[in-house]
Amino acid sequence: AKPRHSDLLDDLNPAQREAVTHAGSPLLVVAGAGSGKTRVLTRRIAYLLAERDVHPGQIMAITFTNKAAAEMRERVSDLVGRRANAMWVSTFHSMCVRILRREAKTLEMSSSFSIYDSDDTKRLITLVARDLDIDPKRYAARTLAVHISNLKNELIDPETAVADAGNDLERRVAEVYVEYQRRLNQANAFDFDDLIMRTVELLQTFPDVAEYYRRRFRHVLVDEYQDTNHAQYTLVRELVGTEANEAGIEPAELCVVGDADQSIYAFRGATIRNIEEFERDFPNARTVLLEQNYRSTQTILNAANAVIARNPNRRAKRLWTDSGDGEKIVGYVADNEHDEAAFVAGEIDALADKGEADYSDVAVFYRTNNQSRVFEEIFIRLGLPYKVVGGVRFYERREVRDMLAYLRVLANPEDTVSLRRILNVPKRGIGDRAEAVIATYAERERISFAQALRGAVSGEVPLLNPRSAKAITGFVELMDELGEVVESGAEVADILEAVLERTGYRAELEESDDPQDASRVENLTELVTVAREFTEFTAEVAGPDGELPEADPGVPEPGSLPAFLERVSLVADADSVPSPDGGDDGDGHDAGVVTLMTVHTAKGLEYPVVFGTGWEDGIFPHMRALGDPTELAEERRLAYVAITRARKRLYVSRSMVRSAWGQPQMNPASRFLDELPADLVDWRRLAPSSSSGGFGSSGGSPRAATTWGSRGGGGGASSRAASTSPFGKGWKDTVALKLDVGDRVSHDKYGLGTVVACDGAGPRATATIDFGAAGKVRLMLIGSVPMVKL
Ligand code: ATP
Ligand code: MG
Repeated sequence: AKPRHSDLLDDLNPAQREAVTHAGSPLLVVAGAGSGKTRVLTRRIAYLLAERDVHPGQIMAITFTNKAAAEMRERVSDLVGRRANAMWVSTFHSMCVRILRREAKTLEMSSSFSIYDSDDTKRLITLVARDLDIDPKRYAARTLAVHISNLKNELIDPETAVADAGNDLERRVAEVYVEYQRRLNQANAFDFDDLIMRTVELLQTFPDVAEYYRRRFRHVLVDEYQDTNHAQYTLVRELVGTEANEAGIEPAELCVVGDADQSIYAFRGATIRNIEEFERDFPNARTVLLEQNYRSTQTILNAANAVIARNPNRRAKRLWTDSGDGEKIVGYVADNEHDEAAFVAGEIDALADKGEADYSDVAVFYRTNNQSRVFEEIFIRLGLPYKVVGGVRFYERREVRDMLAYLRVLANPEDTVSLRRILNVPKRGIGDRAEAVIATYAERERISFAQALRGAVSGEVPLLNPRSAKAITGFVELMDELGEVVESGAEVADILEAVLERTGYRAELEESDDPQDASRVENLTELVTVAREFTEFTAEVAGPDGELPEADPGVPEPGSLPAFLERVSLVADADSVPSPDGGDDGDGHDAGVVTLMTVHTAKGLEYPVVFGTGWEDGIFPHMRALGDPTELAEERRLAYVAITRARKRLYVSRSMVRSAWGQPQMNPASRFLDELPADLVDWRRLAPSSSSGGFGSSGGSPRAATTWGSRGGGGGASSRAASTSPFGKGWKDTVALKLDVGDRVSHDKYGLGTVVACDGAGPRATATIDFGAAGKVRLMLIGSVPMVKL
């Protein structure tokens, strides 16, 4: 049944109502966290369907992560039921994949293209750089990859990059970019940035293609607009149009919502310019401001307001609510990261015992993925159910990537990166030399690596020794055999089983004595399960009659190998758990488990109870940001995002000592803790359990707790430290590391560098070091910096 008009507008405030019902000109909704922007977006969709007779197929809604897309789909289907299926609700990347699959021929690609993730990209760039004789010490593949990605986000094509290159680095980057792009084409692959850039190219170069989508999508809605980069902005503009086109089709209706204070993807080229200049970009635009917050208590909002107010150059706005002050924020200073995790676990248990929160009400945030491990360990030990969103990195494990590489080659034989990955995995006597001979031959004959392999079988490749030729023949036959399994229409899970079996991959692991290999077998079993569930899920969506709610030429056949691979690459991209349908990680509140995730992943979500952990200078704010005002402002926005996820209770904690690079490191309190108004925070513990010296002395602030414990319990940093000096060996070394501008240093990770600036003293001492191609890095000199002065 159609929702009635009044139902849809009843529980909205006047500004929200205006945004939902606004028709015609482009609409921008700007507002602080929790003020109902996403609610306006989903409600607007329901309103379009119910009151303005828009067909679901005419709606395209774009979110920033797969998780958010899943949540939005869920919110919309709650409102309009199964009809939601015909809408496109997706991330920018998924949307582009769908368009590109349909239009691949136009770009002279095949619709079975592969999607290269950052690891594939790095591999290919490494190959390219090697072939171009680029010194990997001066220009690391990682650095080249970042620069190429930036160019793509700015929609700069290889030719323009070459023409514009002004210095040595830019020339090198451009040179690699040209060749990299040529090889991507040859491999019938797009990397993540290509998905956006090439879709823009498609829409700009082929007016009939643009017209098709303009006719089809009459409503385009974008959530988290503050995190769009230039390429994404252009994509939206091309889709919607700014004036009637030649065929007289008016621009589509555009509605974007965002909050400049939550812009946290500048490192991927996101720019709040897109919000600030919306009215200029889209003539006749209308802007709606929302002010009332419906998510959090006033205490939480006051904390958020106080922190974000420290950022320069922002439009002042204050969040308010009429839901009352609520509980105070709870603060905790831990001895070390194990103690911090134990506190969090204990607190969650206590809340659950008292019936004040279910596990699923709780989220634990940290700044970077590697911080999850300590929480996982203690949660497992205590039997506390949890899940880690993102950072599971399931799809990054070697064995999983090997299997996916097999599947990708089966779906797209031109996928050179994947093909070269599995050529000799498991070992079958095709050595590096043979691989190089094949690659050179392919290069010379201007044919693909796959074709060159076939050349080797028929004896056309010179300089290849007979033993290698025989091994290659065996490999080609094996792949042909597996190709027949695919051709026979087998399910993805069965194809995977065939690969595991016939390549001898599983047998090799099972025979190994290495315990790691046992867990590899488990991961592969898990992958087969994911594939199996994928097929089942697709069958379920198709319904008993096997008919899908939407047959779209841009979508690979449901349940097929390409569909599976697409699903996997997009899930693996967006910090998501390996779930076959992307559904169960939708709202992050499922199955009675605590959610662990990075703050970045938490954007747009809300939880009754939030633990913000690791609030230490050098952790959060991130080390990289300590001396850089622009980066620091971004970290502060991240803190604002973290705080505003909480509905009722917020905890903040920090740890005195934390191991880094395997060494205990002393971390000062995060400056963001100081920025929380003192009267809002109830410090549960300010000083660690027992003290053995320290340099903090002022009382009453979290910084007073600058002493460190030497408790035996909990293991980890503090017990290890206690057995030697309070800081372990690394600490002493680095205290001695006094640096001056001009000093030369050697850093384990960044290589050789020159100190260009020094800042702060004592625990806040930092040095900015120019590492040449690796860029300028600001490092804290406290703790165990893996660096020596030359
Ligand atoms: P963020 O900036 O974090 O993405 P947002 O602006 O998108 O936040 P929503 O997630 O849409 O905010 O809304 C926050 C919470 O407030 C949700 O639980 C939502 O259901 C609720 N909410 C929004 N508007 C209203 C309203 N008018 N009445 C009652 N609850 C509301
Ligand atoms: Mg939102």
